Amino acid sequence: MSGVELIVLIAVLAVLLLGVLGVGLVTSSRRRKQAPRQASTDVATPPPTPAPSTEQPTDEVVEGEAPPVAEPEVAEPEVIEPPAPALEKPEGTASRLVRLRQRLAGSQSGLGRGLLALLSRERLDEDTWEDIEDTLLTADVGVAPTQELVEQLRTRLRVEGSAAGDAQQVLREELVKLVDPTMDRRLQISGADGAPGVVLVVGVNGAGKTTTVGKIARILVAEDRSIVLGAADTFRAAAVEQLATWGERVGVDVVRGPEGSDPASVAFDAVKEGLDTQADTVVVDTAGRLQNKAGLMDELGKVKRVIEKQAPVTEVLLVLDATTGQNGLIQARVFSEIVDVTGIVLTKLDGSAKGGIVVQVQRELGVPVKLVGIGEGPDDLAPFSAEAFVDALLG
Ligand code: GDP
Repeated sequence: MSGVELIVLIAVLAVLLLGVLGVGLVTSSRRRKQAPRQASTDVATPPPTPAPSTEQPTDEVVEGEAPPVAEPEVAEPEVIEPPAPALEKPEGTASRLVRLRQRLAGSQSGLGRGLLALLSRERLDEDTWEDIEDTLLTADVGVAPTQELVEQLRTRLRVEGSAAGDAQQVLREELVKLVDPTMDRRLQISGADGAPGVVLVVGVNGAGKTTTVGKIARILVAEDRSIVLGAADTFRAAAVEQLATWGERVGVDVVRGPEGSDPASVAFDAVKEGLDTQADTVVVDTAGRLQNKAGLMDELGKVKRVIEKQAPVTEVLLVLDATTGQNGLIQARVFSEIVDVTGIVLTKLDGSAKGGIVVQVQRELGVPVKLVGIGEGPDDLAPFSAEAFVDALLG
């Protein structure tokens, strides 16, 4: 009897065990099937549940919805979302001018102080005037402007006296005259008839062109203008990347093409974007390979022609490196023969004691220096003014 009972007991236990195992297998396989089915229907119908309605990326909503286990993932990508508030606020014009003075006073003070010391001598003899000439020539003022200035100083100081105070005042006035306060140095950044202003930036590689385009964008953003940048220096991959970074920092749209693509087509697209988005100004960077004049002429000519199918170019800025002296002047000549330069940006004035180049280049091209680069910082570009420049020279 106990043997039969034992067999029955074993049989019952076996049945129970099988039952438990069986149910377990069914549920787990059902779970496995359910999960993907639910997920795929969510993808097909984007707005199934109105839960996190403000979220834009539908993928994240889908992931969070499907299995309850995936829920914590929803919060995680949100951290990546806000690049917008990280935008930088570029510096306004007033404090840039203060910095222009400080920086120039540092790098150019040799010229100003040297001239003042010479003019303050007891007797202004021929040797002194020669020293004055040499000082001006060393600072790249150029032969003709130097002779003019010396002539003016000689005449005025003979008549008005050469006491230290007078000499400084006379020198200031004559230098301002030489730099020419009457030139119109405003940037032409506005278009007509609903078109954006188009600023074409040209110059040899290394002059600081791309950096200057980025800095100009910041000046315009500081003035609350809407800007599009065109990265048409497609021959230098780094230039395109560089400009994209400048744009990102201040939230400005940068139109770019693949490396080696036609600069004119990038310029065209940038101006089109400017028109479509009703931007105030489009600033176009260009390639500055000086391999031969004909090639450069073809390239820049085409860029300008293609842009002008949509909107006139309102400003052509030539970027010149102040530290290159006479070489910079030769470049300036070449570019002005190719495009109609309307303004000069003199870069690296912070690192050069040859600020006199301002005078020479203006005379040579007959166009004003409109902006000066005074350092590598993002806001180290200042509007040029004859008075501020001369005051900085004289410390
Ligand atoms: P690009 O080839 O003409 O586009 O020249 P980049 O814009 O790449 O500039 C070349 C170098 O000049 C970079 O290292 C810039 O930081 C530097 N640079 C540009 N402008 C200035 C300036 O005003 N002062 C100084 N010190 N460096 C500058």
